[in-house]
Amino acid sequence: MGKETTAYIGLGSNLGDRRRYIKSSIEMLAGAPELNLTGVSDVIESAALGGADQAKYLNAVAEVQTTLNPQHLLKALADIETLLGRVRSEKWSPRTIDLDLLLFDRQVISSPSLTVPHPQMHLRSFVLKGLAQLNGDLLHPVLAEPVAALAERLNGCDFAPHPGRPQIVSVAGIIGVGKTTLAKELANLLACKILLEPYDTNPFMPQVYAGRKEFALDSQLHFLMGRLDQLEAGALEAGRLAITDYIFEKELIYAHRLLDPQQLTLYESVYKPLAENVSRPVLAIYLQDSTESCLERIRRRNRPYEQQIQPEFLENLSADYDELFADWKTCPVIRLSASKLDYAQTPAIENLANQVKYYIATNGK
Ligand code: ATP
Ligand code: CA
Ligand code: CA
Repeated sequence: MGKETTAYIGLGSNLGDRRRYIKSSIEMLAGAPELNLTGVSDVIESAALGGADQAKYLNAVAEVQTTLNPQHLLKALADIETLLGRVRSEKWSPRTIDLDLLLFDRQVISSPSLTVPHPQMHLRSFVLKGLAQLNGDLLHPVLAEPVAALAERLNGCDFAPHPGRPQIVSVAGIIGVGKTTLAKELANLLACKILLEPYDTNPFMPQVYAGRKEFALDSQLHFLMGRLDQLEAGALEAGRLAITDYIFEKELIYAHRLLDPQQLTLYESVYKPLAENVSRPVLAIYLQDSTESCLERIRRRNRPYEQQIQPEFLENLSADYDELFADWKTCPVIRLSASKLDYAQTPAIENLANQVKYYIATNGK
């Protein structure tokens, strides 16, 4: 017998007696030559990625020790699929059983018939939760992050790549947290387009910050139209990476904080139809820091009207952003502590840039 390797298999069924197919495939893995079954996660139900009209899946993750090489292990999985009546038709069509090779030790494999880690495991909560249950310390070999941390980025959702959309990566966070600096660093390393929020071209801003509330609606509408110019359908190329130093939804956060109820009603009636026409991010980076540190940065950069920002306003914004991302279902979210970001530390920033690259749709198949 050759050397034993730990591998993880993703199991899924959405056709026929799903529980029985999961159970049978586990038994067949346990009985397969050169393979030892060493763990099975709970079985969880999830919606099909192939479309809302498809039946739900039951999913689980199995841990095996094997002396097979990755190609032979994949063949063994395909044999079990065939024995359990899997008929191969179009991608993501209903199936009695689907067995994916998720991880093979820490190997990174990219051949025409096999990609390991499984190219979409970092986008699937049902996979990451199962893996974390079996081994909480397990690292994703490319992202170099624990599977449990990767699961947290998904907020319970499962995502699919959308190569036909612009690949927008949005940096979000309160005023003074350092969004622009981070966005610029990333765009530089990734040699991609950057969409910056202009801070000194809104003619209504100085008045609003000076307490002239009657200008707040004009100011918010000015910002909204600026976002649309940058993000509206057709403004960006499909499949191309673009980094923004803001998240579109911040407009609603600020509108709620700055407008009076009547202004807000009018604003929302304008916002809603326009928002439907805006490209969604494929990844968000939520940059966080204490209000004290943000105020310090605001003081240092010394933009005139910003000097009147009160700590309480930043605290409120911080709570609003937390709330936004607590319910966020649009894309994965990487949470970063700004105080831990050190731009002099090139490898750390490069690691983040590489992670961003991995999340956009050009990765894998
Ligand atoms: P997804 O891979 O998005 O979960 P799927 O499981 O429905 O989709 P299949 O039709 O089962 O896709 O597999 C398509 C092909 O993917 C297989 O023929 C296989 O050669 C290839 N493949 C590449 N990497 C892997 C992997 N890590 N595990 C399983 N199949 C893989
Ligand atoms: Ca699959
Ligand atoms: Ca498969």
